[in-house]
Amino acid sequence: MQPTQQIPGVYHRKVGDIVVTAISDGYLDGSLDVMRNVDLDEAHRLLKAAFRPARRTSVNAFLIHSRGRLAIVDTGSGNYLLPTAGMVLRNLALGGIDPKSIDTVLLTHMHPDHSAGLTDMSSGERLYPNAELVMHENEPKHWFDDGAMAKADERAKRLYFQAGREHVEPYKDRTRLFTQGEVFPGVTAIPSLGHTPGHTAYLVASGNDQLMIWGDTVHVPEVQTAIPAAGMAFDTDLAAAAAARKRMFDRVAADGVLIAGMHVHFPSFSRLARRGNAYELHAEPWVHAFE
Ligand SMILES: [Zn+2]
Repeated sequence: MQPTQQIPGVYHRKVGDIVVTAISDGYLDGSLDVMRNVDLDEAHRLLKAAFRPARRTSVNAFLIHSRGRLAIVDTGSGNYLLPTAGMVLRNLALGGIDPKSIDTVLLTHMHPDHSAGLTDMSSGERLYPNAELVMHENEPKHWFDDGAMAKADERAKRLYFQAGREHVEPYKDRTRLFTQGEVFPGVTAIPSLGHTPGHTAYLVASGNDQLMIWGDTVHVPEVQTAIPAAGMAFDTDLAAAAAARKRMFDRVAADGVLIAGMHVHFPSFSRLARRGNAYELHAEPWVHAFE
């Protein structure tokens, strides 16, 4: 019998005294037609040069084990992107993590590939029953705004506004909103607004070690590191998203900060190098034991 499935998508990385665990939700195969502010022929050329015949977007979540507490950053796509994604709960179980033991959910933003895993949509039950939900105050402010929803197209109304509301609603009496600052032991919220109005990165720091979990700074890493202005149709504000991406790139490239991202190929731990006006992501080599 030839194998047909991977052993679980779970990868641990130590950051000082903190352990961060990448949990794969799977991936999404799509076209480049959702890209904006980029010549699509050029984008196809960049993908091909990276030996990727089409757009494949990883979907990742991250656990943060810090000072006896356990957080998860984003929750994956629930049942929105089946069958290639939606595996956070399966991979948590295979990694020996009970969702009941997670005390905090940090959301980078309220898009279905990040927030749909919060709630069992058939029963309305919280999938992290003991967790506080923590996010930037602009997120619910925007996605619960009926005026903003009225201006959106039908797809965005259903997929972003309506769905986002349904995902976070069961947590409404246990939601903590922030604007910036330390939001979990060793974790600082770094607002990186534009992709959505409250899109936020999380900087994990312990001792001399740092990890920037940069959320949706990129969706197509091969194209957007080469052309940082390139954005996505579902960026709430394309120009602000591009400016935030550029700021994030400059910040992590200048200091060689380790990064992880929701759409950087699993397990995603990488560093970004500056090459003139462009950048290159370099994945960190896999290690099998860590301390
Ligand atoms: Zn996303």
